[in-house]
Amino acid sequence: MRSRIDVMRGYAEKTDCRRRMLLGYFGETRPAPCGTCDNCDAGTSRDDAGDVPEGVPAAQEAVRDPEFGDGVVMSVEPHRMTVLFTEHGYRTFALDAVRALDLVEPVEA
Ligand SMILES: [Zn+2]
Repeated sequence: MRSRIDVMRGYAEKTDCRRRMLLGYFGETRPAPCGTCDNCDAGTSRDDAGDVPEGVPAAQEAVRDPEFGDGVVMSVEPHRMTVLFTEHGYRTFALDAVRALDLVEPVEA
């Protein structure tokens, strides 16, 4: 997948549990925070992704936006999601806007 290098590039910028991000990247759904990495120590890891509203793409899901084109969801937080677009780089969307305006919709893998 062409975005893998960019995915790894974004790794260092994240504040979520590093182990969980890697497990999520490799396909595990909702792995628990490890409790031992630097982000867990700093208290910035999320406890659980379960409070993300329905209808919002999951992390690592391929999406397509009418304005920004193809992208991959990098992270989904309770109120916003970050997408890395192939042509436009990182964009952050409010989840309310994602749902209301259908800004980003899943595409077939
Ligand atoms: Zn951790």
